[in-house]
Amino acid sequence: MLWAWRASGGENSVRLLRALVPLPILDPRILPEPGLTALIDWSSPILHADLDAFYASVEVLNNPALQGRPVIVGGTSGRGVVTSASYEARRYGVHSAMPTARARRLCPNGIFVAPSFPAYIAKSREVEALFDSFSVAVEPLALDEAFLDLRRARRLWRDPATAAEALKDRVLRSTGLVLSVGVAPNKFLAKVASRLAKPDGVLVVRAGAVEDFLHPLPIGHLWGVGKQTAVVLQRLGLRTIGDVACCPALLLERALGSHGAALARLASGHDDRDVVPDQAAKSVGAEETFEEDLAEDTQMLGALLRLSDRVASRLRAQGISGHTITVKVRLSSFDTFSRSRTLKSEVDGATGIYGVARELLVKFLEDKPPSRRRIRLLGVSVSNLSQWPASDQMVFDQQPEWGAAELALDRIRRRFGEDALGFGALLDDG
Ligand SMILES: [Mg+2]
Repeated sequence: MLWAWRASGGENSVRLLRALVPLPILDPRILPEPGLTALIDWSSPILHADLDAFYASVEVLNNPALQGRPVIVGGTSGRGVVTSASYEARRYGVHSAMPTARARRLCPNGIFVAPSFPAYIAKSREVEALFDSFSVAVEPLALDEAFLDLRRARRLWRDPATAAEALKDRVLRSTGLVLSVGVAPNKFLAKVASRLAKPDGVLVVRAGAVEDFLHPLPIGHLWGVGKQTAVVLQRLGLRTIGDVACCPALLLERALGSHGAALARLASGHDDRDVVPDQAAKSVGAEETFEEDLAEDTQMLGALLRLSDRVASRLRAQGISGHTITVKVRLSSFDTFSRSRTLKSEVDGATGIYGVARELLVKFLEDKPPSRRRIRLLGVSVSNLSQWPASDQMVFDQQPEWGAAELALDRIRRRFGEDALGFGALLDDG
């Protein structure tokens, strides 16, 4: 039985990947037929996304002369350790945490560079913003890795594997960095899968195939198994995760205490920890600075509608809605104002956001003399955010026709870019 598939990047492997997936393959440009949604597998909604050789890759991006060379980032003094090595350097056996002196012996022609953390942090923020645009539940683990829970975004993607491919693609195109992704029913399995997917791959573990995936792996893949624990397990004759799963829990507990019980749970693929977002987004917004200041009402309202639509699309992409709508206005004098209104019911649709934003802007402008009615920048944001209810039906049922139409727009935008489609017809609406 096919338990997982792997893409190792490049067009050929994507073709291979498509040949292996045991589900009907839809062109991602075509929305699934209602009858097909039952075949689409959402049993593995947790992603572990991990950038490949992150520090070394940022060094290569910042100095293209390093492309294809064995780059080793680490303490350049005699006593330092390697913090990151490009895949070219790994071929010589160099890896993170290795003393630099040893790395020099293994790879005498390696290019050793001192770490430049401000550059890594800046790049990490760019990547994190992309993660945030895929899910409201993102738990960063380090500068180069995070868990994403896609359960709130399931109306937007055919399945989690498609979302993982899209995330990889988006990260590469926006930042030049290569991402590997593990897709699994829980955090532990997703993390194991991303490690095996490297470099430049996606590995999916389906819920019905967890043991086939996990049990042949060596015990080193279990979380919390360091050198000491490995020695204890080996003394018990346990070599693979499957061995640990079959070992009586009592024996493990006797050898390792409560740690043993935790290992037994992981070895059978169980991990019920939630993806815990680092910090919930406080607002979702969009703004635009105009090449020429806007003076006509129709221009201003047109811009406001575009911005409302963009914000609505971002809210839906994260499975959230909000109660407070804020309009930001910068006049040609550079004076900047903001006006907000909080609604009793939450809103996530372009029409709802636009309706309130328009009232706020009209009221703001009504007592301004014509000389003060020239707008340099407009912004719309929604705050006071909450997640959709688990069924996520409620939000759509309020305005069912807009829900469906806007979701279709989201899918098309994801494929062809944010400005591919807009609400042009709405401009005459009021
Ligand atoms: Mg990494």
